[in-house]
Formats: sequence, structure tokens, C-alpha cells
Amino acid sequence: MKIAVLIKEVPDTWGERRLDLETGLTDRAASAPVLDEIDERAVEAALSYADAHPGTEVAVVAMAPASATATIRKALAMGATSALHVVDESLRGADLLLTAEVLAAAVRRVGADLVIAGNLSTDGGAGVIPAMVAESLGMPQLTGLSSLELTDDAVAGDRVSDAGTLRVSAPLPAVVSVTEALPEGRFTTFKGIMAAKKKPYETMDAAALGVVVEDPAVPRYIMLAVAERPPRQAGTRIVDEGDAGEKLAAFLVAEGVA
Ligand SMILES: Cc1cc2nc3c(=O)[nH]c(=O)nc-3n(C[C@H](O)[C@H](O)[C@H](O)COP(=O)(O)OP(=O)(O)OC[C@H]3O[C@@H](n4cnc5c(N)ncnc54)[C@H](O)[C@@H]3O)c2cc1C
Repeated sequence: MKIAVLIKEVPDTWGERRLDLETGLTDRAASAPVLDEIDERAVEAALSYADAHPGTEVAVVAMAPASATATIRKALAMGATSALHVVDESLRGADLLLTAEVLAAAVRRVGADLVIAGNLSTDGGAGVIPAMVAESLGMPQLTGLSSLELTDDAVAGDRVSDAGTLRVSAPLPAVVSVTEALPEGRFTTFKGIMAAKKKPYETMDAAALGVVVEDPAVPRYIMLAVAERPPRQAGTRIVDEGDAGEKLAAFLVAEGVA
């Protein structure tokens, strides 16, 4: 069994997060870059299967700036077998379609029976990359799984929705995305960090994967404008002097809520 895990480097969720107002991209200097926590859970899901099934290979795949090496090596230190890092400055600002095309080409290169991704990155937060990668690869997709069971030839899990919990399964090869309901990623050990330095780490650009970044035949979306979030306004405090209900009602009417 070979499992590919899609991992993304994101700005630290607990640090300051800003958009570069000129490019509209994440200001990567604003806070420390980390492996997205949801992707750590995806790596963990693959590794716990590998622990119980010797011979399983776990390849991590990332499309990220060249500076993301340490983040990708963290997944190797956790226990992944190898890494494919797509590095290409022409992919800066890539839209979702291009990102999915690149990741699908990278997965094809790795050759996986199962692809595991996070359901939603903590920075971009589009939540559609796993489905788009599955579509590109022509594989079934099980998205937003809160549990994951894997056998030699199939994958299954629970998908929680507002209306109830769906039990879903698909034959392999398939793409799944997982939610925060899955266990957290394991800690790295000194031994793991040292071992990671010797594991296969391949870097490729888009052309080597057969992806034409500037293909005029493919529609791409572009960002037209970016603006800083306006500062929060002070709220309205209603002091109860026996007439709080009336004041609240008047406030709601004035705001056009009621
Ligand atoms: C040079 C360069 C600069 C970049 N700068 C930015 C930036 O400023 N801001 C930004 O948000 N993105 C940046 N990216 C990454 C890329 O554009 C985004 O990954 C893409 O837009 C996905 O959007 P999302 O995170 O909303 O996807 P979602 O659909 O929310 O992601 C869901 C899951 O898909 C997988 N996934 C998503 N993106 C990647 C990826 N790149 N590699 C591996 N797995 C992935 C993960 O498993 C993730 O949990 C950059 C990439 C490169 C090469």
C-alpha cells in the first residue's frame, strides 16, 4: 500500500496573520510558518495505518515555496517515508484549479493507492482542493471524514452532516479528506528528526510534472482587489435601568434587524 498525504505550509495559527496588500497573498514574514495542523492529522492517519501494516509507504506531497523544506521535513520526522516538494516561483498566487492540477500531477508521479488531505486549510480555507485533485485523477472522493478505516482494497469512514452521519466507502485508489475529529499528529522525536535528514526528498517544478502554468486555454481566476479588514467598531452597551428591553428593541429596529 502506498499512501500520499497532501501537506500545506501555513502561517502559525496562533501568530499574527496578514495579507500582503500589494499581492493579496499571505504575508509569509508576519508569523512563523508551520505544517497545517489538519494536515498533521492526515499524516497521522497514514502513519497509524503504516504502523499496523509494515511495508506501507507514506509519501508527503507539498506545493510550497522553497523555504518550506523544514516544514515538509517535519512530516518525514513524524515517520513519512519520502517527500515530493513542488517548488516553482511561477506557482506563486496559483488559483485553486492550478493548485489541484499540480498536486494531481505530483500524486501521479508518486503513484498512490490512497490520497489523504485535510478538509480545509487554516489559511486559504477553500476546502475544495481534495475534491478537485480527485476529479483530476479520476478517483472517487470521500471528503470531510471524521473517521477512517482502510483495508487492502477499500477505504471507508463517517461523514457528519447537519442531517446526520453518513457511512461512506470507496474502492481504491481513492482520495479522502479528514476533519479535526481525527487524532492529532504525533510528536517528533530526536531519532525521527535525525532519520528524516536521510529520507528521499525530491523537488520538482511544474514543467517537470507536465503542467503548463500559463496555458491560455485554461481559465484561471485572478484577484482584482484586496483590502485590509476594517477595524472593529466599539459595541453599543445597554445599561438596564428597568427599560433594557425597550432600548434593545429600539437598537434592533435602528439597525434594521427587526
Ligand atoms: C510560491 C508559492 C506561494 C504560495 N503562496 C500562498 C499564499 O500566499 N497563500 C495561500 O493560501 N497559499 C499559497 N500557496 C499555496 C497554494 O496557492 C494554495 O495551496 C492553494 O490556493 C490551496 O488553497 P486552500 O489552502 O484554500 O485549499 P483547501 O482546499 O482549503 O485545502 C484543503 C487541503 O488540501 C491540501 N492542500 C491545499 N493546498 C496544498 C498545497 N499547496 N500543497 C499540498 N497540499 C495542499 C491540504 O491537505 C489541505 O489541508 C503558495 C504556493 C506556492 C508554490
